[in-house]
Amino acid sequence: MAGERPTPDTNLRSLVGKAAVNLAKKDLVTARDLLEFWPRSYLDPTRPTDFSTLHDGEYVVVLAEVHTAVTRKMRQRRGSMLIATIRDGAGNQLELTFFSAWGHENALVPGRRVLVSGTVSHYGGRRQLTHPEYELLGAGAEASSTFGEGPIPVYGQVPKMNSMKVAAAVDLVLHAVEEIPDPIPVTVRAAHGLPPLSNAYAMMHQPRSTQEHRKARWRMKFQEAFVLQAALAVMRHSSDAVPAVPRSATPGALADQFRERLPFDLTEGQQQVLAEITADLDRTLPMHRLLQGEVGSGKTVVALLAMLTVIDAGAQAALLAPTEVLAVQHHRSISAMLGPLAEAGLLGGSSDGTRVALLTGSQSAAERKKNLLMAASGEAGIVVGTHALIQEHVQFAELGLVVVDEQHRFGVEQRDALRAKVEGASPHTLVMTATPIPRTVAMTVFGDMETSTMTEVPRGRQPITTHVVRGDQPTWVQRTWERVAEEVAKGGQVYVVCPRIGQEDDPDLPDGATIGPGGPIADQHGPGGRRPAPDEDDEGRRAQLHGVLQVWRALRELPATTDLRLGILHGRQPTEEKDAVMQAFARGEIDVLVATTVIEVGVDVPNATQMVVIDADRFGISQLHQLRGRIGRGTKPGLCLLMSQEAESLSLERLEAVASTTDGFELARLDLEQRREGDVLGASQSGARSSLRLLRLTRDEELITAAHDAAWQLVADDPDLTGHPELRAELARLDAERAAFLERG
Ligand code: ADP
Ligand code: MG
Repeated sequence: MAGERPTPDTNLRSLVGKAAVNLAKKDLVTARDLLEFWPRSYLDPTRPTDFSTLHDGEYVVVLAEVHTAVTRKMRQRRGSMLIATIRDGAGNQLELTFFSAWGHENALVPGRRVLVSGTVSHYGGRRQLTHPEYELLGAGAEASSTFGEGPIPVYGQVPKMNSMKVAAAVDLVLHAVEEIPDPIPVTVRAAHGLPPLSNAYAMMHQPRSTQEHRKARWRMKFQEAFVLQAALAVMRHSSDAVPAVPRSATPGALADQFRERLPFDLTEGQQQVLAEITADLDRTLPMHRLLQGEVGSGKTVVALLAMLTVIDAGAQAALLAPTEVLAVQHHRSISAMLGPLAEAGLLGGSSDGTRVALLTGSQSAAERKKNLLMAASGEAGIVVGTHALIQEHVQFAELGLVVVDEQHRFGVEQRDALRAKVEGASPHTLVMTATPIPRTVAMTVFGDMETSTMTEVPRGRQPITTHVVRGDQPTWVQRTWERVAEEVAKGGQVYVVCPRIGQEDDPDLPDGATIGPGGPIADQHGPGGRRPAPDEDDEGRRAQLHGVLQVWRALRELPATTDLRLGILHGRQPTEEKDAVMQAFARGEIDVLVATTVIEVGVDVPNATQMVVIDADRFGISQLHQLRGRIGRGTKPGLCLLMSQEAESLSLERLEAVASTTDGFELARLDLEQRREGDVLGASQSGARSSLRLLRLTRDEELITAAHDAAWQLVADDPDLTGHPELRAELARLDAERAAFLERG
């Protein structure tokens, strides 16, 4: 649109010309995209770049002074070539080689300061850049106009554009776009010493000092945290605007009766959390509570007591499980724990009891209909099912409480979807995490919720010992399977966890008992399998991972385990089969259950005392901690063996970390440090390019806290953001971007 002032949303085509085509290949389409294409690093103009760390094949941007420049006649061709050398502070040399001297001779003269980009190679023992691109610095007509005396930004690679060209495009945009709305209100900026957004862009791309780009970076991080927190605060405010029905505890009713039936006392942590929840339920403000706790800390009992309180008050509760296996198990264990209390209307059932309905994807039509009816009529006080199912199909008579169990993937969407089920009122919500999470994650992902934490596990809980087993050490491997057999002989049961299901006809895996020399199944039957070649990519590596089916077959043949009763559990089995296997395992009819991570969360078989995790390096730290939480749940101590063929020290270090502590919070911190933020936040938070890009949940706690407080205060004072249209527009923009991202999948 000619004549209109460029804004951050203006397409780059009208601002930088043909370069826009290349920039678009990096998804840089609008002025804002380019302005937020942050420099990867900065070069100090007063100091030559250190050449000693440059690797062959690396694309580099270096700053130095021309030391010598020699023109040579070419033997085979006409014309002459130019070899200039540049030097770093330590005297290391880098040759700049041009096969045609023309045009370069006059520019690259000794003493000239240059900014050079190219790919490092070696020729005749000398480090060089062949046909590098460069810009002259300092005074003079030929000198670059983009770079001043301050630190020089270095950008990540854009097709057909070197770092200097990107800088030139950024320069154009910085000059063209004048009106840059700032989502951080001036009061907040003043309180935290943050420069305005337009200044911050300039300070990032064309800093006059190191301090300046640091300050700008701090501001942009603050913005990421602030905008995210404002979004959470606005969401929370709008949901608080729809009141909830208070569900007061009824003395002597189901909840109290159930508590009396429990074969154990609640831990102090459980009692405290329960008190918090009961107080929340008693309010017209809908509860939004996150219950995070150590694996095995007994979250389910707490949730069940909360559900019963709501039932006592005349409403229903929904329990959302992440998998069918877990939904089925919850249904069974809750029914068992409640006993006659869950048999209302049945012979022998308690007269003031309730019923527990179950909804899974693979129920028969008749079964499902029966359960849907129980939910709709209100006959079922508790409705257990998978997230998707309950959200899409279930009608409730009076939904009072939603419990989301073992949330792994943290999306705001899931928590929100059930609100629509309750006309005119918000249900109370309790979200339980699968593993402990660091404070900053809680604040960022569950920032709209109050948090309860349970760190202790019930007394008498048996310790779990964890060891790392090197898969390339046949004697250790053999010993592992002997330990499994010994455990079974002592009356225990064992999980063997594999990273994938595997296929019966997998061509990569040999027949019979052996899975790779030195693999997790010791090589007792001759050669077979192959180790991945060192240069094999990850895909190739993945094909080498041990599958449930292969391991099961191998264990059947191994002398140590051949007589044991082996079972298989994985996601491709029909639900009834999975359920039958789980029940058989729970009844002790299976000694060794070879499974995928379907057993990861919630599965509760107290007699299971040992776990072998195969290719353990393939799992995340928190995931291993969660997996290992499946054992040591009864009266006997647990043993967890993490097997890995990985010789790489970092992988082994991770496994050793898991082996060294059972403190889930400590492990969660470690996990977060090693993973990309996106893995932690899930698609909805990380997918859109504009959300957390500079912010590091591990390192920026202080900043996140400050941004949190500022944002929540602001929204409390102005919930509709009427006085802050820039912030409101930014939230709308991010919403749209996120929606578009989710649409694309
Ligand atoms: P998680 O917090 O990992 O979900 P669960 O709720 O599955 O843990 O509880 C683990 C086990 O501990 C269950 O078998 C449960 O019955 C038992 N349990 C819960 N609370 C207590 C308690 N206070 N004392 C003893 N055992 C308990
Ligand atoms: Mg649980």
